[in-house]
Amino acid sequence: MPIKENLLQIKSQLPNHVTLVAVSKTKPVEDLMEAYHAGQRIFGENKIQEMTEKWQQMPKDIEWHMIGHVQSNKVKYMVPYVKLIHGVDSLKLLKEINRQAVRWRKNVDCLLQIHIAEEETKFGLDENELEELLNSEEFKKMTNINVIGLMGMATFTDNQEQIKREFDYLKSLFNKYKSLKTDTSDSELAKQNCQLNTLSMGMSGDYQLAIDCGSTMVRIGSSIFGSR
Ligand SMILES: *Cc1c(COP(=O)(O)O)cnc(C)c1O
Repeated sequence: MPIKENLLQIKSQLPNHVTLVAVSKTKPVEDLMEAYHAGQRIFGENKIQEMTEKWQQMPKDIEWHMIGHVQSNKVKYMVPYVKLIHGVDSLKLLKEINRQAVRWRKNVDCLLQIHIAEEETKFGLDENELEELLNSEEFKKMTNINVIGLMGMATFTDNQEQIKREFDYLKSLFNKYKSLKTDTSDSELAKQNCQLNTLSMGMSGDYQLAIDCGSTMVRIGSSIFGSR
C-alpha cells in the first residue's frame, strides 16, 4: 500500500491523546514528502547526519525527533533543530545537551530511555539510575532541558504477555515519577525542568498493545514506509 494510505489508516486507529512519530530512517526524502503531503509533521530519525540532511531539504514546519542512541560528541550538530530527543540514557549526555542548548539559547525536550527489554543490547536506565539522575544536583541545575517523559523498547518477541509486562512496568515508572517536579536551582530562571507528560512506547509490531498499556506517543516506521 502506498505511504499515504498506510499513514491515514494508522492515524484513524490512534486515540486523540496519542502522538504519531513517523519513523523515516533509511527512507528517501520523496517518501517523507509523501507522508508530509498527507499531513504528517513529526518524523523520527536515528542518525544525526541523516536527520540533518533531511532537515535541510524539507519544509521547516516539521518536528524532528531523534529516536536513536546519541553520542555526546554529536549533540552539537543536532541541537539547533531537534524538537525531542527520545533516547537520553545518561546524566553525561543530558549535560552535553544542556550545554549545547545554552549555547543556542533554546530549550530542548528530552525523554529518558528506560531499559525494559530482556536483551542486554538495548540501551536505557534502570529504575535506580533513573531515580539517581532525577535527584542529582547536576540535573536540578540544568536550565535549558525539559525532561518531558520516558521512552522504552520492549523485547523483540512474539510473546504478547512478555511485551505487555514490559510496557506495564514502564507505565508504572511513568506514574510513579509523574508527580515529581524538579525546579532548576537557578532562581533567575526558576522553572520546572522535569514534568513527565509523554510516554513513548510502541512500534509497528506492538503499538496497539502499547496504547492499551498507556502509551501517549508511538514510533512507527515499517507500517508506514514499508520494510527497511
Ligand atoms: C526503527 C525504530 C522504530 C520503528 O520501528 P518499526 O518496527 O519500523 O515501526 C521505533 N523506535 C526506535 C527506537 C527505532 O529505532
